[in-house]
Amino acid sequence: MANDVQQLRDLARAFWTGQPIPCPKHHGATMTGNFVQTTFADHIVLTCQRGRETIIIPQRPRQMEFHRQQVEGFLENIERGDANLCYRCQSELVIESSANPDTGLAEYSFTCVRCLSYGTWNGQTAELAGVNT
Ligand SMILES: [Zn+2]
Ligand SMILES: [Zn+2]
Repeated sequence: MANDVQQLRDLARAFWTGQPIPCPKHHGATMTGNFVQTTFADHIVLTCQRGRETIIIPQRPRQMEFHRQQVEGFLENIERGDANLCYRCQSELVIESSANPDTGLAEYSFTCVRCLSYGTWNGQTAELAGVNT
C-alpha cells in the first residue's frame, strides 16, 4: 500500500514539475501525461510510450508539496501522539521515517493517500527535538 502511494506520488510529482515520467513497468520507457478536468473527478492520465498502458491518478484536490511549517506541524503531532491528516483533503498520510544513529541524521516523509501531496523533513535528531518542544 505504502509503496503504491509513493509510486503514484512520484509519478504525479514528475507530471506537475515537468520532469520525465518513468514508466514503473518498462525500465527506460517514459510516459506522457494529460491533466483531465471533469465535473466530479479531475485526474491525470499517463500513457506509456512503449506498452501503451495507462495509469490514472485522481487529482482533486491537486497534489502539492507541504510547506516546511506544515511538515513541522506533522512532527509535533507525532510527538504528541495526535493523528496526522493531509492539509489539503483531510485524508490519511503515509509516514516514513528513518534515523541514522551514527550521523544523528533523521528523515521523515509524509504522503497523502488521496491527493498525493507530500512533504519531507531532514535534519539532525537534536534539531528534531527542538521542533518538538
Ligand atoms: Zn510501460
Ligand atoms: Zn490530501
